[in-house]
Amino acid sequence: MRVLISADMEGATGTTWPKDVEPGTPAWERMRRLLTSDVNACVEGLFSGGADEVVVNESHETQRNILLDELDHRARLLIGRHKPLGMVQGIQEADAAVFLGYHTGAGAQGVLSHTYLASALTGFRIDGEHADEGRMNALAAAEYGVPVILVTGDDLTCAAAARWAPGARTAAVKECVSRFAAVCLPPSRSAALIREQAELAVSEHAVRGRPEPVTGPHHFEIDFHATHLAEAVAGIPTVEQTGPRTVAFTAPTATRALRTFRICSTVAGASAEDRFG
Ligand SMILES: [Zn+2]
Repeated sequence: MRVLISADMEGATGTTWPKDVEPGTPAWERMRRLLTSDVNACVEGLFSGGADEVVVNESHETQRNILLDELDHRARLLIGRHKPLGMVQGIQEADAAVFLGYHTGAGAQGVLSHTYLASALTGFRIDGEHADEGRMNALAAAEYGVPVILVTGDDLTCAAAARWAPGARTAAVKECVSRFAAVCLPPSRSAALIREQAELAVSEHAVRGRPEPVTGPHHFEIDFHATHLAEAVAGIPTVEQTGPRTVAFTAPTATRALRTFRICSTVAGASAEDRFG
C-alpha cells in the first residue's frame, strides 16, 4: 500500500505564530524540527500498520521545510514548488492519503486559520458549503479513488475533517485558544498520538479497501478582502466576478477546480499591496 502524506505546517506540533511558519525566521528553523518529528511519527505508524511505501509532499510556503537529513529512511520526500496538483501532488500514484499539519480555513476559528493567502482571501465555498484546503484536497483525492485516512492539526481542524473526510482518523496536536494561541502537546506526546492513529488508519484501510473514484463538476466561490483583487482574478478565463469582492467559477472536475483555484490565489497574491493607512 502506497501512502501520500501531504504535510503543511500551520497544524504541526507547536506552531501558533506567523513567524513559526515563515521560512527564514529563527522561529521557523526551530519549528521545522517539530514538523519533521510529526512526519516521522506518521511514517513509523504507517509502516507498522502495513504500508509498503510512503511519499511525503511538502505543502507549506516554499515547500522546503522538512529536514530531509532527519527523515525516516523508509520515506521519500517531494520537495519544491510549482506542482500541478500542489498539496496533493502524488495522489495519482497513492492508495491512501494523510493530511498532516493541516489547519482550518479562512474566516473560521482555528490556529493560523487561512486558505492559501494569509489574509487577502476571506471566504471560500465549494458547492455552496464552507470550504478549506482540506475539503478541496480531499475532493481531488476522491477523484483518484484515494481516501483520506488520517488528518492531524489542531482540535478544530480535526473536527472540521469529520465533514470532508468522515472515515478519517484524527490526531489533535494542539487545542485552539485563539487564531494565534493554543495549548500544545510536547513533540514526544504528539508523536505517540500520531504514530498510534497512523497505524490504526492503515490497518482499517486495508480491511475497508479503496472507494470508487468520485468525479463531477464543482462550483467554487472565493471572497477577497478588497475589490481590486476580485477584479484582477475575474480576468482569468472561466472566472466571473459575482460581487464587489467575490468571484466564482465552475470546473468539470475537482482537479481542474483545484488548479483554477491555485491560479486565482496566485493572481490575488500578486495583486495585494502592502499595508497602508
Ligand atoms: Zn501552510
